[in-house]
Amino acid sequence: MNYVSTRGGIAPIPFQEAVMMGLARDGGLLLPESFPDVRDKLAGWAKLPYEDLAFEVVRLFADDIPADDLRAIVRKSYATFSPVPPAPDQAWTGPEVAPVRPVGPVHVLELFHGPTLAFKDFALQFLGNLFEYVLGEGGRELNVVVATSGDTGSAAIHGLRGRRGVRVFVLHPAGRVSPVQELQMTSVLDDNVFNIALAGTFDDAQRIVKGLFSDLPFKDGHHLGAVNSINWARVLAQVIYYFYGAFRTMERTGAKEVSFVVPTGNFGDVFAGYVAARMGLPVRRLRLATNENDILSRFFASGVYSLGKVVPTLSPSMDIQIASNFERWLFLHAGRDAAQVRAWMDAFAKNGSLEVPRAADGSLDATLCAGRADTAATLETIRRFHADFGYLMDPHTAVGVSVALASGDADGGAPVVCLSTAHPAKFPDAIGRATGDASLATEPRVEALKGAPTRKFPLPNDLRAVADFVAART
Ligand SMILES: *Cc1c(COP(=O)(O)O)cnc(C)c1O
Repeated sequence: MNYVSTRGGIAPIPFQEAVMMGLARDGGLLLPESFPDVRDKLAGWAKLPYEDLAFEVVRLFADDIPADDLRAIVRKSYATFSPVPPAPDQAWTGPEVAPVRPVGPVHVLELFHGPTLAFKDFALQFLGNLFEYVLGEGGRELNVVVATSGDTGSAAIHGLRGRRGVRVFVLHPAGRVSPVQELQMTSVLDDNVFNIALAGTFDDAQRIVKGLFSDLPFKDGHHLGAVNSINWARVLAQVIYYFYGAFRTMERTGAKEVSFVVPTGNFGDVFAGYVAARMGLPVRRLRLATNENDILSRFFASGVYSLGKVVPTLSPSMDIQIASNFERWLFLHAGRDAAQVRAWMDAFAKNGSLEVPRAADGSLDATLCAGRADTAATLETIRRFHADFGYLMDPHTAVGVSVALASGDADGGAPVVCLSTAHPAKFPDAIGRATGDASLATEPRVEALKGAPTRKFPLPNDLRAVADFVAART
């Protein structure tokens, strides 16, 4: 399987090279040349444990890694999760890294049992193992530099800590990440982890990271690498749990197809669901859910993708206006016409807006659609699910569940699987506002962080200072 760019400017490359490249060299995003059709495999896959299913999915896209090596990479990637015993009404009997729980009218796919209690662990544990494998024994090195507003940084640190040949530099805005998120990062004391507390905002941190990457002699000289959600390996790792979540839900309900609702920021997670549907998973609807930062839900209503202003909400990991993975959908929507993608992206860079024509029936996509939930709806959903069903969910998950409830029976009776992207214990303030009791949200991994020794490096809001810091350690 080879990979091509959405901008059409690179010769096809194999999987390992695509993983190391991250962003395509022509500025586009990498995608496989085609999607394998797995419809004749579904029956055989339906009862597989998560690890075995992961191996079957990933091997189709990573055919330049020998099967035994790939099996080992996949196995290691989920060994860091806290497996959950299966529900009593379920035929599948093994411990689960991605359990599905029926809660009231929806099925919740819990993706927060990894080391940092958010779904990003699925991708970053896998990516850490891949990096280590590709770098090999030959003394090659990779220095990952990443800006974070919270979740990405901690998932990256836990995915990369202690890896041979890899260092990770994470810039967070000093004093502007939640206390739990900060502890999840700064309590990791491995020699290859550098937490930089930048005297600035998340945008400042992002700007400095972009500055380092656009200085090509610096980037090449210091072997800089990226772990943004545009890395194809991250999307691929997320495709697996759409299959798994659908299989568990179909097994429990007897349904022949399911719908998904996905809390969305950068369009990475929901795009993975789109890939699963393209491969032949029976997905009735894939509904993305945004908070007030609604560029994507406005797009799927109007066909116009136009920049708004970022507003802070209770679901900070979705407080995004430019959805970096959206270009992948544009490329597929345009029938893989890279010239069309370039024209759209040029228009967007120039005017902050682009427009996509609709199909004859007036729709933009047969599978994908969107909804939006504001802060009031999010809080009410957390409150009601806790009061009615004894189920506590985090605010990102609640945006998705709110959108699922508001769309009623639009999916023709297919069971609705809501992705739960974070554990509520990461967001005690929102839980407190919704239920009146912030202490409801606890988790042993969070409790264990309190009072742990920490390490961080305060730096001024200055590109030179960060560049010198990185250079001195690589
Ligand atoms: C990153 C994140 C999201 C958004 O995922 P995208 O892939 O950017 O759409 C949603 N919820 C949580 C908790 C996250 O950390």
